[in-house]
Amino acid sequence: MLVECFECNHMISNKAPRCENCGISIKSSKSRCLMVIFILVGGGLGLHRLYAGLFFSGLLQIGLTFITIVSSEPVLIIGLACWLIFDFLIIVFGLFKDSNSKAIA
Ligand SMILES: [Zn+2]
Repeated sequence: MLVECFECNHMISNKAPRCENCGISIKSSKSRCLMVIFILVGGGLGLHRLYAGLFFSGLLQIGLTFITIVSSEPVLIIGLACWLIFDFLIIVFGLFKDSNSKAIA
């Protein structure tokens, strides 16, 4: 699958360790395997997002989980589930970006 280099916008394979145009490393140093474990163990606690350095959305996810548990609102439960399923899928496909916009592949 082709992804856009965040530095020069050149289209490169997401399996390439670095951009062939500008030479910048495009892969995150974070482990995708750990990301999968984190979302399965503590997805609702935003563990995978905190690990990826995405502190704002990680805390937002914790807050949303807390509000969802307290309120038991079906709309919130569905929304949170969709967010976590979406996160899970992009992690599995290696498209999740860390705080430096590098793909965790
Ligand atoms: Zn580049």
